[in-house]
Amino acid sequence: MATEGITRLAPSPTGALHLGNARTFFINHLLARHYGWRMLMRIEDLDGPRTKAGAAEQALDELSWLGLEWEQPIAYQSHRHLIYQQSLEQLIDTGAAYPCTCSRKDILLAGGAPHIEDGITSYPGTCRGKYKSLAHAEEKSSRPVAWRLHVPDEPITVEDQFFGTHQINLAKTTGDFVVFRNEGLASYQLAVVVDDYAAGVTEIVRGDDLLESAARQIYLRRLLGLDGQVRYWHLPLVVGEDGIRLAKRHGDTRIAHYRQLGATPQRVLGLLGYWSGLLRKRKKISLEDLLEKFDIEKLSHEKVVFTKKDDKFLSGK
Ligand code: GLU
Repeated sequence: MATEGITRLAPSPTGALHLGNARTFFINHLLARHYGWRMLMRIEDLDGPRTKAGAAEQALDELSWLGLEWEQPIAYQSHRHLIYQQSLEQLIDTGAAYPCTCSRKDILLAGGAPHIEDGITSYPGTCRGKYKSLAHAEEKSSRPVAWRLHVPDEPITVEDQFFGTHQINLAKTTGDFVVFRNEGLASYQLAVVVDDYAAGVTEIVRGDDLLESAARQIYLRRLLGLDGQVRYWHLPLVVGEDGIRLAKRHGDTRIAHYRQLGATPQRVLGLLGYWSGLLRKRKKISLEDLLEKFDIEKLSHEKVVFTKKDDKFLSGK
C-alpha cells in the first residue's frame, strides 16, 4: 500500500530568515507539491537564550509572503517538554543514556577533537560509567547534569535521496552525544526525532550541514524503537563568495531587507529558481510557474554561491 508522504518546515527562530534558509524551504515546498506530500510546520524554539522574540512570527510571515503553505496547527517545541522528558526516561531505563557533568572546558582539556564541519567537539567519554544515577552524579559533582548517549563504534548508514549513501561512525565523529542538556532541555537531536515520529513525518528536507546529524537521529530512532521509514534529502547550503556559509559578514541577506527595498516575491523566487537550476537567468517568476519547471535532477550538488549580481538583482539595481 502506498503511504502518504509527510514533510515539514522546521525553522529555528534564532534570527531572521535569509536567502540561505529560504532556499531550503523553497525546495522543500516544491518537492512536497511535486510529489503530493503533506506539509507541516514546526517552530524549533527549544534553545531559550538563542530564540529571538518575534522571529518565529516573522519567519512565518515571510514564508507565506513567498507563497509557501502548510497545515495547521503549527507545532512549537517549547510546548513539548514533557514528551521529550518521557523519551529521555526511556533512554535512561534501557541504560542507553548516562549522566554527564563535564563542562565545555573539561571536554576541551580532555582532548576532545573539534569536529570540523559543525564546530562540535568529539566527547572523550569522561563520564561513561562514572555515576550510578542522576542523584549520584549530582551529589558527587554538585554540577548540573546533562545526559549523553553511548554510541557504538560502527558505521551507521545514512541513505540520502540527494547525496547517496554515507557511512558515519559516531564514535569517530561526535562520540557520546548529548540528548538532554544540563539546563533541563531536550537537545536538538532528541527533539527532532521525537517530533518527526509523533507527526508521522516521512520526508526530511534540510541543509546538508545536518547530514552528520542524520546518523545521530537514525541511531536515536533505533534506541527509542521508533520504526517507520524516513527519507532524507540534504541540500547544499548557500555560501558567500569566500565559500563560507551565508552569514552577516556577507551583508544583509535577510528576506526582510530585500522586501523593504521593494523586491516582490516573484523576484526573490526568481533568484531561488535560478539557484536551483530551474531558470537559465535570474528573472521574476511565480511559484506556480516554477513548480511546472521543477526537476530534482537539475538541482546542483555544489554549494550555491551568493554573488554581487544576485544582490543587485534582488535590490532591483
Ligand atoms: N531547525 C533546523 C534549521 O533551521 C532544521 C532542523 C531539521 O530540519 O531537522 O536548520
